[in-house]
Amino acid sequence: MQQERIVYVAANNNAVSQKTKQALLEKLRKRGFVAETRLTSRAELIVCIGGDGTMLRTLKEHDFPQIPVIGINTGHLGFFQELMPDEIDVFVDNYKKGNYEIQQMRLVQAEIHFAAGKAVLLGINEITIKGDKSRSIHLNLSLDHKFVERFSGDGILVATPAGSTAYNYALGGCIVDPRLSLLQVTPISPMNSTAYRSFTSSVVVHPKTKIQIEPEYAMEPSVLVVVDGTEYHFDEMTGISVFFSDKSVGFMRFEGYDFWHKVKTKFL
Ligand code: NAP
Repeated sequence: MQQERIVYVAANNNAVSQKTKQALLEKLRKRGFVAETRLTSRAELIVCIGGDGTMLRTLKEHDFPQIPVIGINTGHLGFFQELMPDEIDVFVDNYKKGNYEIQQMRLVQAEIHFAAGKAVLLGINEITIKGDKSRSIHLNLSLDHKFVERFSGDGILVATPAGSTAYNYALGGCIVDPRLSLLQVTPISPMNSTAYRSFTSSVVVHPKTKIQIEPEYAMEPSVLVVVDGTEYHFDEMTGISVFFSDKSVGFMRFEGYDFWHKVKTKFL
């Protein structure tokens, strides 16, 4: 008996996304796939309809499944998204024929340490450490346990290559070719005066580096950690260690995908 090929289709609530979802479910079923709107362990592919935000939320909600994902853009920017709604016929065709590649993007992991234990967070784009209130924050930054700087300013962001085009880019960080394996430590409004000294540009580190950040609590004894747009408030955290996770997400890419063409069309 032929094995069922199960495709999970997720969409945000906007009207175009919902319409695209219905059309895709029909097309997939006509071509012999089992198209579902709930993710089960037997699914072989996730189709995510919306923008980058929808992609980030869907993958997080399902704890970064180890099956490929493809995005159909109905959102604003759609940097992760490979297809437009009018390309779903070609998509189903190419998928059925196996005409695609998978681009693995490693996740970034944060371990937040407290006196009583630790919490673990995973992100696709970035992990940001900021003051909990709108005050300056002082963070001692070490790389592989070697002290580098006492940062003063709004915060520090650690971006993956996938996240290099997101918040990192808005902060003046570099756009990174996704074939490179590296993490980028980008300052958020660093102070540079006779009172405080911080790096003013991003620092690019080796993929095996552990980035350790220890807050100095002068005013508020709490820190805000933002992972791909989701906020976590931590009181009395002693330190945070950020590094590449062993986990990755696999983006499906079709013939003709060109990262720098995408960068040009989305940013210039
Ligand atoms: P959001 O509204 O979901 O996203 C903000 C914008 O960032 C949207 O236009 C989104 O694209 C785009 N985006 C997300 N990931 C991207 C990527 N890898 N490359 C290029 N653009 C990307 O905002 P959110 O819920 O606060 O956070 C989600 C992400 O937005 C975060 O991971 C962060 O990187 C980014 N962000 C950017 C800024 C900034 O640029 N100043 C500030 C906060 C957060 P779509 O329109 O397709 O969804």
